[in-house]
Amino acid sequence: MTKTEQSQVSNQSGVKQPPVKAMVGTPLAVLNGVSFSTDSATNWSKSLSWQPEATFYPRTLEDLQVIVREAKKQNKTVRCSGTGHSWCSTSVTQDFLVSVNSMNKIHKPQQSTEDGQWTVKIEMGVTIEELDVFLRQNDTPLALATNVLIDDVRYGGVLTMGCHGPMFNFRTLSDLITELTIVNAHGDLVTYSENGDPAAFSAACLNLGLLGIIYTATLRVEPMTTRLLMKDLNPTLESVFGNADGGIGLSLKKLALENVDGFQLFHWPFKQFKEPEQNDRVWVKTWKRTNEALSKKEVDPKSVPEVDHPLFKTFAVGEQVLDTPDALHYEMGGGGSTATIVGVAIKVDEDFKNIAEAFTELNWAFSTSSPERRLTILEMRFVKASNKLMSPMYDEDSNAIYCMMSLYAISGTPGFKEYSKGIAENWIKKYNGIPHWPKEWEHISNVVPHIREQYGDRIDTFNKVRKVQDPNDMFVNDVWRSVLYGN
Ligand SMILES: Cc1cc2nc3c(=O)[nH]c(=O)nc-3n(C[C@H](O)[C@H](O)[C@H](O)COP(=O)(O)OP(=O)(O)OC[C@H]3O[C@@H](n4cnc5c(N)ncnc54)[C@H](O)[C@@H]3O)c2cc1C
Repeated sequence: MTKTEQSQVSNQSGVKQPPVKAMVGTPLAVLNGVSFSTDSATNWSKSLSWQPEATFYPRTLEDLQVIVREAKKQNKTVRCSGTGHSWCSTSVTQDFLVSVNSMNKIHKPQQSTEDGQWTVKIEMGVTIEELDVFLRQNDTPLALATNVLIDDVRYGGVLTMGCHGPMFNFRTLSDLITELTIVNAHGDLVTYSENGDPAAFSAACLNLGLLGIIYTATLRVEPMTTRLLMKDLNPTLESVFGNADGGIGLSLKKLALENVDGFQLFHWPFKQFKEPEQNDRVWVKTWKRTNEALSKKEVDPKSVPEVDHPLFKTFAVGEQVLDTPDALHYEMGGGGSTATIVGVAIKVDEDFKNIAEAFTELNWAFSTSSPERRLTILEMRFVKASNKLMSPMYDEDSNAIYCMMSLYAISGTPGFKEYSKGIAENWIKKYNGIPHWPKEWEHISNVVPHIREQYGDRIDTFNKVRKVQDPNDMFVNDVWRSVLYGN
């Protein structure tokens, strides 16, 4: 696409494009028209910092091609970054880092004349918030049917890493892609579409940044004709994980699936921040699609939870009807602190028994743990299977349900790394848990052999697709080399 064509795209959109933001430092120099700096880089939680030889700030497709051709000429590897919210070392490189944050064009949404389906094509530096705002202002207001919790991360990051929201019928964000364009290691722009080769499309939709630099993605969106009824509940542990419905797991299943479209559960094991009294309740949020009018939450002061964990100070029991983006990106506390998190996908048994057991075991572990661990939180969401080769929720049964189980704490919580490692190891060994790519998982013992065993032939299929685009592993860093090759 030429620069003239790009400005036409911006004009078509009719929406002011947001200012350019760069994740790391200030551009210092220019290479063939592309700005770059030699700043060091760090992720959001500050758990990782690294020194790329150069960090590039492309603005156009041609810029991406310049970077790739330069990398080829100098025999450099290339990794991309967005807002930097991933915990694993996916963006770490000593060579070229590409911050795609200035590539934030949004094309005018299109409606198919065949089936009426709406889609929107975007560049990969677009943040979740920018697209939400843009889609709402469309003549027919539009929204994504599911999304991640926070809205300052970028589509390059969430699509590449297989991210998900709480709406179990809409799977992961990668499952909303209808077309993707990627600049490969030859500098060519390759298009992957749902009407093309299924294996290549599947590999491309969740590619971990390993097929090249994604230029654009086209996503399925929908008219905002429905809203979300969002409920906050504070039931007892016993009512969710006990036997009342005829077996452990069945009450959880009922709460998570019956008459709702989305579900999220939090448990913080102690009532008061850092104090020893155990919490006998869990926090549940549910989402249900509705045609009801917008409504504000009436908060009963008596229902405000006793817990005073800083991450959840915004929570209060009640219900409200919100537009989809507002309900999906609800406010959490935290006061500027960052969090650290391990998370796995566990295939849910028919009766949810394995999930209830995994939770109950963990709750026991909480109760016998040291004071520092009182800062930890358990979270679970349920998502239907994905058909993307590299998804931890991949399943040939499209109705299979996966539990995204996460354990987190405020960054720097003493002992959390070791503790979370033990918990994650148990989830992996006992429940066949598969790490969620953006989270922390590299510290888990024997994790790579486990991942390679779980993904099996899918890694070979992915590698076949990948090798056509990147025969000399330009886009492979150490973490992905171990997953792709086992060493
Ligand atoms: C507070 C918080 C809440 C979160 N909530 C959720 C949630 O609800 N659900 C969920 O699933 N995850 C969640 N996450 C995880 C988060 O969505 C992922 O880490 C996501 O990848 C972050 O996007 P980013 O823009 O920060 O990407 P980064 O972390 O900067 O980049 C991740 C990777 O994206 C790839 N990439 C980016 N752009 C391109 C491109 N153009 N071409 C090729 N590769 C590219 C690269 O491989 C890069 O290494 C959360 C994280 C935080 C910190």
